[in-house]
Amino acid sequence: MSFAFVSDHLALDFAATMAWRSTRRKELLVEPLDFARWTVEAGVVDGLEAVSQAELAKARALREAIYRLALAAAGGKPADSEDIARVQQAASHPPVRLTLQTVGRVERRGGVQEVLATLGASASDLLGGSDRLLIRHCAGEPCTRLFIDRSRAGTRRWCSKRSCGSRINAAAYRRRTREDVQT
Ligand SMILES: [Zn+2]
Repeated sequence: MSFAFVSDHLALDFAATMAWRSTRRKELLVEPLDFARWTVEAGVVDGLEAVSQAELAKARALREAIYRLALAAAGGKPADSEDIARVQQAASHPPVRLTLQTVGRVERRGGVQEVLATLGASASDLLGGSDRLLIRHCAGEPCTRLFIDRSRAGTRRWCSKRSCGSRINAAAYRRRTREDVQT
């Protein structure tokens, strides 16, 4: 299984590792190895070894806090102070260390704590700044992914036109066609 990175923000892509939240919740970080794989695919770190079950639980808890805070921001609702505290705690540690090897190559090193610090910092940057006003909920039910709408007109509706956008358009087309037949 491969992860999708279509939210235009690291923290929101992380939040989306729990999919279809309002219907058949689908956990994508089932095992510690899944989290290690996600961090590498997300470009957070070059490699992550020996993630424990406790660390996976910590990562999931941070993810849920980020999701709830982003959802609150998208809906103009107040933030939960425990969620804020969890993001603060994660971001209080030093993040993944970046070392420029040469032009075009950077080494990213760190363990779980550093990775969670980088994710916490990413969420802090998003939720504390003006980009929080661009957080949108995908219109392609049952998808529950949040994304940043960077379109000039502010009209982006789907996390991904290719998956959610085309699925919804196809369903609408089938509906229209059926109605045509009936009338
Ligand atoms: Zn979607």
